[in-house]
Amino acid sequence: MKYHIVQLGCQMNISDSERVKQVIEGMGFVLTEKEEEAHLLGVIACSVRQKGIDKVYSMVNKWNKWKNRKSLITFVSGCVLPTDREQFLKLFDMVFPMSDLPDFPDMIHQYGIVTPAGLQPLDKGIEDLRFEKAIDEKEATFSLMPAEIIPGNQEKSILRPDKGIENFWDISPKYESSFEAFIPIQNGCNKFCTFCAVPYTRGREVSRPAVEILKELKQLINKGFKSITLLGQNVNSYGLDKKGEEISFSELLGKIGKYGEESGKDFWVYFTSPHPRDMGDDVIEVISKYKCLAKQIHIPVQSGDNGMLIRMNRKHSIEKYREIIQSIKQLIPEATIFTDIIVGFTGETEKEFENTRKVMEEFKYNMAYIAQYSPRPGAASSRWSDDIPKHVKKERYHELTEELMKHSLEYNKNLIGKTVKVLIRGKDRKEGYLSALTEGKIIVRFSSNDESLIGRFAEVKISSAVPFSTEGELIKLKTFASSVEA
Ligand code: SF4
Repeated sequence: MKYHIVQLGCQMNISDSERVKQVIEGMGFVLTEKEEEAHLLGVIACSVRQKGIDKVYSMVNKWNKWKNRKSLITFVSGCVLPTDREQFLKLFDMVFPMSDLPDFPDMIHQYGIVTPAGLQPLDKGIEDLRFEKAIDEKEATFSLMPAEIIPGNQEKSILRPDKGIENFWDISPKYESSFEAFIPIQNGCNKFCTFCAVPYTRGREVSRPAVEILKELKQLINKGFKSITLLGQNVNSYGLDKKGEEISFSELLGKIGKYGEESGKDFWVYFTSPHPRDMGDDVIEVISKYKCLAKQIHIPVQSGDNGMLIRMNRKHSIEKYREIIQSIKQLIPEATIFTDIIVGFTGETEKEFENTRKVMEEFKYNMAYIAQYSPRPGAASSRWSDDIPKHVKKERYHELTEELMKHSLEYNKNLIGKTVKVLIRGKDRKEGYLSALTEGKIIVRFSSNDESLIGRFAEVKISSAVPFSTEGELIKLKTFASSVEA
């Protein structure tokens, strides 16, 4: 029997989906790319934008129509706001928080399915579908009744109280790649930025035990993975919820760095996303110390204006942010710096925008993910007027993008003539080329049709540069000590 998952949103949802797939495949289901073929259909939802939630409604309405002609079970998990959850309960067969994933097989069994072998495609109308107690795998039938009304199951509820994310982390993911992986280290957020709904969809910060993180990392490295990203909504607040019981984020990085040194293995470890408020020198120092801790830091600024940062409830000032950037530039001068910025947030004046443009100029980011503000359902700012006209947001977006392109080009041009270490990630959009990333996540493409190189480290000599990418010539497949050689 087949399943299909629609995964919306950020890297956290991609990582969560890898665990969801593992559980479903552990039950014997087989992944299909065609949703029409599936008997089990799920969505890992994202509430960041209304568009994403509208997509979930339109999908489930379509799927529910299919139920008139075939047996089908639907579920939704991921970032779901309480108001949507109420509606989803009427539309999906199962609605559950990610922390309940270990109970997924039980939930499925409540529908009368012992294993997928028990799923019987039924060309009957929905009214003909009845729950029958499964006797054995062959005789098991497929019910569309929710668990509460299945005879004998009244004591069970599909929506269970959140038992904590720890059980979810125990599940080994079905990794999408053989050389790049995400490791969730922390879930939830206590920061309550006014434009963001994450604290309401994912709850408060919970840190995963360091021993488990290190175990998962070592397993991946032993399997030959080359790039690992530690994930969390507030990745550098790691350990703060368990003060005195758990190590800090910098200590966790230190243990990873030490393992990198002792094992002699070649790999890069990234993390996303940190919050400026919790970014101490201890984190920057440890990154500078160990080779395997990638010299690329993504540190969201969101705005360059202190008044705006207060309205965004960012809990950091531009002065504090400047100190962080200065520390990075001083301790890890070779590091590339990425950021996130929102333009056109409620009430953004010309002067406030100009302050953001100035920080772009000052910090010379290698990459900035610039969003034109749109109210996010469930976030505090969704109650405020979205008063900056669309064309103004667009103009500000273009102005910042131009500024960013200038700095990106300047940095990339400096790579010309140098040999850089890259991780080859796949085929490039340019015909006959492969695409790779440097340790600092600068795109490098080079001429080759040899797909067997994907997933390997190599040396490429850079010959040309444009904003956001470079081109070069493959020198050889080998690892070497520094990421950039003159
Ligand atoms: S720090 Fe702010 S933007 Fe990031 S997840 Fe928390 S509330 Fe959202």
